[in-house]
Amino acid sequence: MIAQKIKEIKKVIGSKKLIIVSKNRTFDEILNAYKTGHRDFGENRVQELLKKYEKLPKDIKWHMIGHLQKNKVKYIIPFIHLIHSVDSIELLEKINSVSEKKQIVTNCLIQIKIAQEKSKFGISKSNFDIINNNKNQFSFINIKGIMGMATASLNEEKIKKEFNTLNQIYINSSDFEILCMGMSQDYKIANKCGSNMFRIGSYVFS
Ligand SMILES: *Cc1c(COP(=O)(O)O)cnc(C)c1O
Repeated sequence: MIAQKIKEIKKVIGSKKLIIVSKNRTFDEILNAYKTGHRDFGENRVQELLKKYEKLPKDIKWHMIGHLQKNKVKYIIPFIHLIHSVDSIELLEKINSVSEKKQIVTNCLIQIKIAQEKSKFGISKSNFDIINNNKNQFSFINIKGIMGMATASLNEEKIKKEFNTLNQIYINSSDFEILCMGMSQDYKIANKCGSNMFRIGSYVFS
């Protein structure tokens, strides 16, 4: 039961923000979550996101959480609530220029690489510092905070260490409001490490 799963998660995270990750889920599955009153959903592929945006209720707040190709930015800018996965300076520049063209200010998180896997995206701490020191030049982007994914591991200490690294960056960048980390497997650890926004998919729908 989706309602029960959401309730269980909220028992852990309290009033912090839950993004239900709806990638690979059907319209009906998403509507079942929607009917509980939930409005924030995350997708990781532009094509699937566009299909769902068209078909599903317009008061859903869509979050782009997966690697975003620069040539696809233009399709999501008109409606996207928050882009979690800004993983290069070039992508940030692209989002800024497309947003300027459409005269929209786009909300973004900077994805920082904390995991060891080569397959995981994210920028280095030093590139994050460059962005952070130059963020005033991106007039059509509102950088709301940072996002990260821990290594897929059963080693709780390792996950904790990676989340704490991100939390430290968050604490040191005092003008950010969002620290987004934690998925089905590790959201309880992320919660203890200071996360205030969670992206949870499989646990909600299983
Ligand atoms: C799929 C995905 C999630 C959710 O993962 P679950 O294990 O299903 O909770 C979170 N963040 C990103 C970036 C994802 O691609």
